[in-house]
Amino acid sequence: MRRSSTSPSHALALAAILGTLLIPSHAEAAGLEAAKQTALESVDALRPEIDRMAMTLWEYSETALREGRSARLLIDQLEAEGFTVEEGVAGMPTAFVASYGSGSPVIGVLAEYDALPGVGNAAVPRREAREDGVASGHGCGHNLFGAASVGAALAIRRAMEDHGLGGTVRLYGTPAEETVVGKVYMAREGLFDDLDAAIEWHPSTETETRNQPGRALNNFTVEFSGQAAHASHDPWNGRSALDAVELMNHGVNMMREHVKPTARIHYVIPDGGGAPNVVPEYAKVWYYVRDVDRPTVEASYEWILDIAAGAAMATRTEHKVTLITGVHEYLLNRPLQEAIQANLERVGAPVFTDEEQAFARELQRSLGIEETGFETEVHPLAGEPQPVEGGSTDVAEVSYLVPTAGFSVTTAAADIPWHSWAATACHGTDAGVKGAVVAAKVLAATGIDLLTDGELRASALEFFDKATEGEEYESPIPEGQEPPLPETR
Ligand SMILES: [Zn+2]
Repeated sequence: MRRSSTSPSHALALAAILGTLLIPSHAEAAGLEAAKQTALESVDALRPEIDRMAMTLWEYSETALREGRSARLLIDQLEAEGFTVEEGVAGMPTAFVASYGSGSPVIGVLAEYDALPGVGNAAVPRREAREDGVASGHGCGHNLFGAASVGAALAIRRAMEDHGLGGTVRLYGTPAEETVVGKVYMAREGLFDDLDAAIEWHPSTETETRNQPGRALNNFTVEFSGQAAHASHDPWNGRSALDAVELMNHGVNMMREHVKPTARIHYVIPDGGGAPNVVPEYAKVWYYVRDVDRPTVEASYEWILDIAAGAAMATRTEHKVTLITGVHEYLLNRPLQEAIQANLERVGAPVFTDEEQAFARELQRSLGIEETGFETEVHPLAGEPQPVEGGSTDVAEVSYLVPTAGFSVTTAAADIPWHSWAATACHGTDAGVKGAVVAAKVLAATGIDLLTDGELRASALEFFDKATEGEEYESPIPEGQEPPLPETR
């Protein structure tokens, strides 16, 4: 928007004109309410579909960038309801964008559907492998995430049709959240650029509006190459790549003493050689470095790269760094958070049956934690953002491009470990689906708010512009880098 200087009287006149434009009339408010009611009732009508999608995704439990059947399931449902779907976007076969309607405003609803390796479990309140032997599981509840978001998009569509609402609703099928990849590549591709706002949710042990920014992250590997030799016969001919990894890790653990307490640095050694009597010619270490924002992460990353170079020099090995992915911290948006909170309070937390609560308590007993069952209330929205804690999410990339907000709904028993078999078990039950239905309603209601309330969109954008200070989005990953697709075997 172009800005010109205005005299005070002009400013007042302008404010009056803007006021009539932005404050909804009674008729508009009534229209909004009727459309919202339709959206909420549509979610109830769509409950069988949400249930079926959620349980089918749970059965599939496909991990990052292998979500072929999961994406297909959601795409088929969207196409059957009149959405136009672009598949295989941003170089990922399991990423898609589904659209309904035309013109502005354009509202994005985010969906995830990838599972986690190794946390598969039957839908029972104890550690028990699935009968079909599937070892992966929805320990983060993305089966509910995908089903509820698609359900919400369908409900918004029905309300748009019934009430003649203009604009576009877009459902983003974003794969590989668990490896923090999908939205990073979709963001770099510009797929979110023309949105007026994006909304999302996440399964949880609590029902609340997201009010905590999470951490920015770099995810990278360092591979060292040395020289193999017999470790006892002629060790002087060997140059150990594993030595380099050990030295690098030691260096980073010394560095750890001199970074802010907000930093989180963790690693595993996916390849450290094959046998003690062979000097390892190849070794690989895989790192995550996180902190409160991109500049702090970048500073630690640079330091770690110096340490890697030093380790290579000291061990007379070669090294190669690969930045797999990176994300920002999640940029909160107060006006959108408040709109979500109002809808959360209106819809209410899931109501669980005695049987469902007994399931949750039995699960807690098998974990040796307090038997409190499922949480049943909506948390209030604090006035200030909560301090940084927890992990990272690729939703952060969307939040740096357009006004974005989200919330969580109770889908799992209180205090259970996340990303675990116990969370997988909860997410395969009716109780989990109840959480998904609540989420679909809150997303649908907020979607209607965003389509019909120009004042909300304007204040969300104003907040966003202030927070980003007009700075252009910079992708954490290098230009031209391809998504880390799994090898097809
Ligand atoms: Zn998740």
